[in-house]
Amino acid sequence: MIFNVSQLLSDPVGSVRTYSLNIEDIALDSEIELGSGGSTTLLRTHQGILARINASVDTPASCSRCLNIYSVSLDLDIEEEFFRKSDIDENDEFDETIIDDDNILDLNEIIRQYTIAGLPMKPLCETGCMGLCYACGGNLNKVQCHCSENNIDPRWSILSHLAQD
Ligand SMILES: [Zn+2]
Ligand SMILES: [Zn+2]
Repeated sequence: MIFNVSQLLSDPVGSVRTYSLNIEDIALDSEIELGSGGSTTLLRTHQGILARINASVDTPASCSRCLNIYSVSLDLDIEEEFFRKSDIDENDEFDETIIDDDNILDLNEIIRQYTIAGLPMKPLCETGCMGLCYACGGNLNKVQCHCSENNIDPRWSILSHLAQD
């Protein structure tokens, strides 16, 4: 999602452009895909351009219990101000919110960052995910191992002794 904002930058403060986002617009690292679509509004501010983005995205995540990769859908609600490269302090660079010398405003990095930040801390492929067997490593959603039946892990036998004392 790249926009040439040279026209908007020469418009008066308060000018607005609205764009709908299409799947073809996404040039993110291939992992993130636009879900049901979205829109962005670009508002000319005193110092730059305020971008508001509403989009639903699908991104792969690894289940924290079974480690399977599955798709997470997120609704993003983003508001970030972008500044012209010439207007900001060299030492104070936030690359993802810079409008480059060709007046290109690039939303991809911002969307990527919000997507990562929006992922759950402990993603679960499904609420009842059974996870992996501690003994054999099998995915308990798919295989039924017998490790818990003939439990020979010495750590557990020590615990059962303690419980008896
Ligand atoms: Zn899982
Ligand atoms: Zn097992």
